[in-house]
Amino acid sequence: MKIASRDISAVSLVQEALDKAKKYADYNIFISINEDAAINRAKEIDEKIEKGEKVGRLAGVPYACKDNFLSKNGATTAASKILEPLKAPINATAIEKLESEGAIMIGRVNMDAFAHGSSTENSYFGVTKNSADTERVAGGSSGGSAVAVALDIVPFATGTDTGGSIRQPASFNGVYGIKPTYGTISRYGVVAMASSLDCVGFIARNTEDLDLLMDICAGQDVKDLTTLPDYYVNTEVQEPKKIGFLKDFDSDAIDVEIRDALKAKLDSLKKDGYEIVDLEMPILKYALAVYYIITPAEIASNLSRYDGIRYGYRSDNAKDLNEIYGKTRFEGFMKENKRRIMTGNFVLSSGFYDAYYLKAQKVRTLIIKAFEDAFSKCDMILSPVSPNPAFKIGEKVNDPVAMYMEDILSVTLNLAGVPGVALPVGQTKSGLPLGLQLIGPRRSDKSLLKFAEKIGCKLDEENK
Ligand code: GLN
Repeated sequence: MKIASRDISAVSLVQEALDKAKKYADYNIFISINEDAAINRAKEIDEKIEKGEKVGRLAGVPYACKDNFLSKNGATTAASKILEPLKAPINATAIEKLESEGAIMIGRVNMDAFAHGSSTENSYFGVTKNSADTERVAGGSSGGSAVAVALDIVPFATGTDTGGSIRQPASFNGVYGIKPTYGTISRYGVVAMASSLDCVGFIARNTEDLDLLMDICAGQDVKDLTTLPDYYVNTEVQEPKKIGFLKDFDSDAIDVEIRDALKAKLDSLKKDGYEIVDLEMPILKYALAVYYIITPAEIASNLSRYDGIRYGYRSDNAKDLNEIYGKTRFEGFMKENKRRIMTGNFVLSSGFYDAYYLKAQKVRTLIIKAFEDAFSKCDMILSPVSPNPAFKIGEKVNDPVAMYMEDILSVTLNLAGVPGVALPVGQTKSGLPLGLQLIGPRRSDKSLLKFAEKIGCKLDEENK
């Protein structure tokens, strides 16, 4: 990622990324590629450099954009039919910041439609294949982002994480990913899923790159009132002394190779002088249920704007207004989107609101408190990201509950608003990437990245 030395031109870097994107076309990573725009931007940057003009910290660096960020360059689909690609008149704040530092979007990458899923199989544009085994899923919902980085097409990709969508695909493909503290990066211009959990973050091959991206994108934005005053740039890195081990997640439900990898890591940390603290957070057994009540409720509300009237797809065979709404939504949304809209409206409906939505909100508060309590006993927690490594394409897609169970370890962070960094720690015996996640208290993002750098696998140092 360091082209500051100018040993290589922006045009050749971008061309190389575009060539690799074509070479790996079978993986179905990109929904759209904007070759001309990318090359033109690269030319502009090379000219600036030649003239000695100031260029940004990402000058000439190609990147892949998850297809739920609005950008003037390239149309947005959120991997659905209902947006009928949307030509956005604005850039999302995160895209604006990346581009103002000279980053060059080469294309927009696949995801589960509206980010609903854990495998990128819920995409209108077909499944993305895992970088290590093409019979397996990429993970999701930021599957295209993770595979683009794992195959080294681009050094980084944007992602969103509402319940694991950055960390799980990163770990399924052996790369790094950060889900920041809630409110760190503006979501303005990002297709909303569940607004009280949605976070913008990144996937990259090392934590140094993630740190730079956080530096560039973190900060308050009047267009997203949940954004925090910038804490990231000036945070002092705190080296942890006590690492938490969540006993609640040490069960047979978690693949034995993942548990072994976690234990091996904790053993070696102990040898290096860190104190390992056993934690029990029994409330976490409700986290998945809480997540699958609160997120559908927010999804039902956020997705009500796609009605065939204002923009996007409109059904051709509707006779009246009600039919326009109904048929457009029936034809435009994927099955999983509809499942969540229906669940969400159900848990919000009178008679069920108290029993489901309100109760879930109360348990969410207890989960937030449980994390606060845990971080009074340890500095960071090391845990699995998902119960298993990448599973086979088709294995879970027709069983929504089995798919939801994939999220059991990742959604807790989003419910509590705390940050998490996925880091690669090795491979299974059959060669699939194994990842873990480091979790810290709110605003500990920078320290998490620094520590992840220390304990994660080093991927091709020479490419940096
Ligand atoms: N897999 C989770 C879900 O389907 C998380 C998705 C996300 O983080 N966008 O809800």
